[in-house]
Amino acid sequence: MYVLRLWYLSQGMVHPDLTIKRYVVADTSNADVPELPAGAWRTTCNVTAAPAHTQRKSGLSAAKLLTESGLNVVLLEANDRVGGRTFTVRNKQAKYVDLGGAYVGPTQNRLLRLSKELGIETYKVNEVEHLIHHVKGKSYPFKGPFPPMWNPLAYLDYNNLWRTMDEMGKEIPSEAPWKAPHAEEWDKMTMQDFIDKICWTNAAKSFATLFVNVDVTSEPHEVSALWFLWYVKQCGGTARIFSTTNGGQERKFVGGAGQISERMMERLGGRVKLRKPVVRIDQSGESVVVETLDHELYEGKYVIIAIPPALGLKIHFNPPLPPMRNQLINRIPMGSVIKCIVYYKETFWRKKGIVF
Ligand SMILES: Cc1cc2nc3c(=O)[nH]c(=O)nc-3n(C[C@H](O)[C@H](O)[C@H](O)COP(=O)(O)OP(=O)(O)OC[C@H]3O[C@@H](n4cnc5c(N)ncnc54)[C@H](O)[C@@H]3O)c2cc1C
Repeated sequence: MYVLRLWYLSQGMVHPDLTIKRYVVADTSNADVPELPAGAWRTTCNVTAAPAHTQRKSGLSAAKLLTESGLNVVLLEANDRVGGRTFTVRNKQAKYVDLGGAYVGPTQNRLLRLSKELGIETYKVNEVEHLIHHVKGKSYPFKGPFPPMWNPLAYLDYNNLWRTMDEMGKEIPSEAPWKAPHAEEWDKMTMQDFIDKICWTNAAKSFATLFVNVDVTSEPHEVSALWFLWYVKQCGGTARIFSTTNGGQERKFVGGAGQISERMMERLGGRVKLRKPVVRIDQSGESVVVETLDHELYEGKYVIIAIPPALGLKIHFNPPLPPMRNQLINRIPMGSVIKCIVYYKETFWRKKGIVF
């Protein structure tokens, strides 16, 4: 069976912090817990101090780390499966296929380390043959990260675009993008404004649009130039985020990316609770009380929230989130994406003499 990989829109290609999964780790224990409603189901566990930086990791890996450090953790997952935006579907026809995050490359060191620890192997994505850039009904085979431009003016324009983005990225501090010398100016600008300002040719403009679409599943007018340039810089620059060899699409996981979450769940055993959407987090007492949609209550000293920020809108916080945080999560909707993978019984294109 042969698989043609299509350009698809995805999220978060090579952020070094990208590990996989999940949700709220209610880490617990405290004798002085608030009074719970009659009939409430309450879980208590041990004490822990989750260092602030673990909040940047996703739920399952944070839970795994804390458990390995001897702390008592409960992980509440809204869905009936772990994996979130990674999703490996298994069936007879495809054997396995990743409908969510799939690719991994250099700089995603934490994820590579974790998968090795969990016994999951990677393989190199085939780049021996050409990739195809399909525009206006025509296919153009090419090698390397970016499709070539034949028109010399477009080529200059195109190179200027990548160079300018990478140069601007260098000015943006990774840990505090708002401290970039031009932070305010670039944050007021959308990527559409940026493209209109930098690119002269339609060829460069349309490829720049595709570049934004693919990297952050959004349209250029929807994203701040400061944020997007920071994001690309975090992923190692324009060539690395887009490349196969030595870039974000270098490898895939044998058996699918979903196994990473599944194996972490196995290790965590009964600590992972599926179908438990968190709807309320109450920090008004000495301990934190977390309530799920089915009115189960969990309490602990700390809670780690590892969900896409916009989904925080579905949780009631007591005390309320700070106004700035509330304003933020109201203004950062998630992108949207459809991933298409087409399987052919045979490589019919080779029979027709078409060798990419
Ligand atoms: C189509 C697609 C392709 C991608 N391709 C790649 C790729 O090739 N390489 C790559 O590195 N990245 C890729 N990504 C991005 C990658 O999948 C994500 O960055 C990664 O999965 C994020 O993990 P996370 O744990 O932070 O969040 P998520 O995966 O979003 O997990 C959040 C979890 O929180 C749960 N949750 C949400 N709200 C609640 C609640 N109230 N209570 C309880 N649980 C809740 C969700 O059900 C989910 O399981 C892709 C993403 C998509 C959508």
